[in-house]
Amino acid sequence: MAIKTVVWGENVHEHTNEVVARMYPNGMHNAIADALNEDARIAATTATLQESEHGLSEARLADTDVLIWWGHCAHGDVQDEIVDRIQRRVLEGMGLIVLHSGHFSKIFKRMLGTTCSLKWREAGERERLWVVNPGHPIALGLGEYIELEHEEMYGEPFSVPNPDEVVFISAFEGGEVFRSGLTYKRGNGNIFYFRPGHETYPTYYNEDVRQVLRNATVWAKHHGKFWIEEDGPNVPPEKAPNPVTVKGEGLHKPGEKGFK
Ligand code: ZN
Repeated sequence: MAIKTVVWGENVHEHTNEVVARMYPNGMHNAIADALNEDARIAATTATLQESEHGLSEARLADTDVLIWWGHCAHGDVQDEIVDRIQRRVLEGMGLIVLHSGHFSKIFKRMLGTTCSLKWREAGERERLWVVNPGHPIALGLGEYIELEHEEMYGEPFSVPNPDEVVFISAFEGGEVFRSGLTYKRGNGNIFYFRPGHETYPTYYNEDVRQVLRNATVWAKHHGKFWIEEDGPNVPPEKAPNPVTVKGEGLHKPGEKGFK
């Protein structure tokens, strides 16, 4: 069965900025979904900030394998209740791919727990994303590096926790470097951060970038059971696999849940 993928787009600059409207006339989210749907293993649809519940109802998330997130100027407009819902679903096993300025999104900061700050400069510089982990599934089909003629610069230090894996490191024309492809595991969920994608440049039409988006979607899909435990079960002595004799004095009542 195809990987059910939702591409979430903030969908603001496409309607307020003439350059972005010209670059992505159908919205960035549709350009990204089109790239994914070139792969028969993926079934991508879109959702936007402006839809009811930002297009991410409980029912829709429950039917989603991988969520892709692009946001920039309206991170603060995303309802906290929806962020809670996405976080829970990622912990259960939904894959999450966060793109470019999504580094400051509520959901990315929530999942990583740090400021996710970085340096930046908008000067249309050349970016070379070196594949530093050529055996990684997200790098399948790529050469030694991806070259983008015009991109926004993001520079280190990138204030994120140490990743599980680094797949790309970018070198920018101006001299800065940046860890551009990072993987994390949170609960059962696979998370990938991919740097490129400034909205005034044609990045999401680049064939290598589109390949990375497809590879990352296939990689992010969770293959086990979707599972979460929130109650902190208290296992009574008589339910222990082996016989247990209660010793000493205790604090909790039989059957009590939660904090120990
Ligand atoms: Zn940008």
